[in-house]
Amino acid sequence: MTAYSASKLIQCIDRDRLVTLLRDLVAIPSVNPFDQPVSEEARELEIANFYEEKMQEIGMLTSRRDVVEGRPNVFGRIKGKGDGPCIMMAGHLDTVGVVDYDNPFDPKIKNDRVYGRGSCDMKAGLAVFLEVAGILSREGIELEGDLLIAGIADEEHQMIGSREIRANGPIPDFAIVGEPTELEVSRAHKGQLCMHIHTHGKACHSSIPENGVNAIQHMSKILEALGDYNEELRARPAHPTFGHGSFSPGVIKGGDIASSVPDSCTLEVDRRLLSGESVQQVVSEYRKRVDPLAAKIDNFHYEISEPTLYAEPLDTSADSPIVQKITAAYLDTLQVASKLPVFTGSTDAPNLMAPAVICGPGSVKQAHTLDEYVEIPQLTQAAAIYLRTILAMQHSG
Ligand SMILES: [Zn+2]
Repeated sequence: MTAYSASKLIQCIDRDRLVTLLRDLVAIPSVNPFDQPVSEEARELEIANFYEEKMQEIGMLTSRRDVVEGRPNVFGRIKGKGDGPCIMMAGHLDTVGVVDYDNPFDPKIKNDRVYGRGSCDMKAGLAVFLEVAGILSREGIELEGDLLIAGIADEEHQMIGSREIRANGPIPDFAIVGEPTELEVSRAHKGQLCMHIHTHGKACHSSIPENGVNAIQHMSKILEALGDYNEELRARPAHPTFGHGSFSPGVIKGGDIASSVPDSCTLEVDRRLLSGESVQQVVSEYRKRVDPLAAKIDNFHYEISEPTLYAEPLDTSADSPIVQKITAAYLDTLQVASKLPVFTGSTDAPNLMAPAVICGPGSVKQAHTLDEYVEIPQLTQAAAIYLRTILAMQHSG
């Protein structure tokens, strides 16, 4: 078992190498284009190329697939003996936008932190994956099962990258997603369902509004009808892991000019889902509240769109070996027990089609802010947690 000694491998973790790599990753702008034309800052292809090269440099077998043109997923593999589980370390290559962010791609080091867009969410995780794989490769550790790294496109928008993996593989036996959790182990997060609600009216000159049907006013009735939906959700019995689902109207658009009665209005609604809640169920909850308006309001017409975003909840069993082993690795590394929080937000994890945990350096409090950073000690600690977990998992599953 000497070859598998975790403590020996942990001594190989190199803080400077990690920081240098993270700075290189931050310096490549990879802002998600969010349905806009690809700009100078949206260089997902360049970061995918860089990340693939780095995986090759440490001896990983790499492959890539375009999810859409110029936006690939990249994969690295260290072949195991074929006697153990295939473990994937997964992270997204894109970041959120940088409007009003001063020097987002000029990574600075201050107070033992690396600053810059993506430093925390989640290029830190990507850097640690490479450090871990590099150590295993350089030390010639022969794992029982394959170790995979996946660098994934488009997590911050539609998750088309992980949906592509869901459709075409590789599907691992277990997955670690390195989103920022301050290293805490999360085995669950809520799902997310976004949809448009449209109201249809009839345009006319606003000086004779009685001749038209005002779609904005009809939408205001829908908002009223959904006004206490959160109270209803909170009144239901709490889910043992997730607590309660929630609802939020997020975007409203309607009308062109004040001197016309608007003939259409669109509301985008966001619903956070519990494990077990389906799209159909949520739509029928919306309808139950909104349909009765048709009896009270003349010419009331509305429709609910197909989902504009649907991300499943993650609900990995607490008994899964990956949860058990990474929780033990957390305890060994940090000398305290993980609080096992439910992760805020949604991730690629459910699309990886395997029992998955979320555990990574950086805090979700800094993610998406205009002053993003990661604590450098968390990089080396994350590497130690992943190494311990991977070694402990070799005879699991
Ligand atoms: Zn993220």
